[in-house]
Amino acid sequence: MAQAGARGENVFAVTVHVVGAGVAGLAAACTLAEAGERVVLHEAAKAAGGRCRSYFDPALECRIDNGNHLLLSGNLSTMAYLKRVGAEGSLTGPAAPDFPFVDLASGAHWTLRINPGRLPWWIFSPARRVPGTQAKNYLALLQLRRARSEDLVAPLVGHCGALYEKLLAPLAIAALNTMPEVASAAPLRAVVAETIERGGAHCVPRWPAVGLSESFIDPALAFLEAKGADIRLSSRVAALVPGQKTVLAVPPWIARELLPNLTVPDAFEAIANLHFVHEMPPGPAGFWGVIGGTAEWVFAKGNITSVTISAANRVAEVPNEVLAELVWADLVRAFGVPADMPVFRVVREKRATFAATPAQLARRPGTRNADKNVFLAGDWTDTGLPATIEGAIRSGNRAALALLG
Ligand SMILES: Cc1cc2nc3c(=O)[nH]c(=O)nc-3n(C[C@H](O)[C@H](O)[C@H](O)COP(=O)(O)OP(=O)(O)OC[C@H]3O[C@@H](n4cnc5c(N)ncnc54)[C@H](O)[C@@H]3O)c2cc1C
Repeated sequence: MAQAGARGENVFAVTVHVVGAGVAGLAAACTLAEAGERVVLHEAAKAAGGRCRSYFDPALECRIDNGNHLLLSGNLSTMAYLKRVGAEGSLTGPAAPDFPFVDLASGAHWTLRINPGRLPWWIFSPARRVPGTQAKNYLALLQLRRARSEDLVAPLVGHCGALYEKLLAPLAIAALNTMPEVASAAPLRAVVAETIERGGAHCVPRWPAVGLSESFIDPALAFLEAKGADIRLSSRVAALVPGQKTVLAVPPWIARELLPNLTVPDAFEAIANLHFVHEMPPGPAGFWGVIGGTAEWVFAKGNITSVTISAANRVAEVPNEVLAELVWADLVRAFGVPADMPVFRVVREKRATFAATPAQLARRPGTRNADKNVFLAGDWTDTGLPATIEGAIRSGNRAALALLG
């Protein structure tokens, strides 16, 4: 690394450099440090975490996450990562695989209740499945099993009426961060195979009890420090040093700058999060899916109510104030919150994830590339999963293991 060399000779005694301290880089660094390697972790920003971080917001006068991150108990690499860094108790969420929904058009509220075991008897129970569906509609999940990366979500499963509108489309938009009309069905298939198909025990919703940094970032940094890793924040890597063992865990456009021959995803989708200073009673699960509005997922987080809009290139031109009014109006209709909009903050992550279209999936590189000393990690590498924490952590672990041989 260019600036690493400027720090003195002893820097080159280290074994491995990890560039980027998002969850992919942290997962790689932890795997390497645990294997006994000396790790130097370089992060360009003042704080670690990348797209998964918490910070103090002066307008709201409290700490918030850059965006609501929903995990499922079936995200096994994520759960193993949290366990490794001593943060396995830091997540919260309902005790059971329950997903409350509200439909703005009809005013209907229902809770999807997946039974814990692998045999999906919940689809035979009208009280547990999506209202307006029949057991036979769920055969669409089998169709999804055969999805190839060129198959799009909407043409493949869009024919199944209420099941599509009230479950598969919202799931696809949330998991792929891409509209189902253009999103590849293959990464959705991977998500369904690792969660719903394995039964409710793999579908329990989870999110950080305090914040993203408190769960995913700070414990990993403490773990690395305890292992003697050299953590360098505000340390932007401008060039790779030939011959130096490196895990490159930066966003794709930076990877391309550092490795000019690399093919990487180059189309992105935004995610918008709206944080309102308003305390909602947490209801049965602490969160809700919203059908038929601008708001898509609502989280009751103490004195903050946080709303997520995925695939948010759609609302890029909508000014923040207008977007907040649209979302607040949804909350008034869905939950009867007071009509007066409270103090709010809109956080737009413009390049939240790559667009999960077939063309972009084809641009995902594997761990290895032409430089045998550089190992790629990041949610945009070819994990088979969409760009999620689970994919990012898996990519980091994989890069570290490849480096270790
Ligand atoms: C608003 C939002 C909501 C999301 N919701 C969910 C969700 O509900 N569930 C879920 O699983 N996932 C969700 N995700 C996706 C998840 O956050 C990402 O998949 C994950 O954080 C990506 O981690 P990463 O390490 O691959 O990349 P990044 O987090 O982008 O990490 C890359 C790091 O590299 C650093 N860097 C860049 N250039 C350099 C350089 N030259 N030198 C040194 N360092 C450099 C960056 O500063 C950054 O810290 C969401 C993402 C966003 C933005």
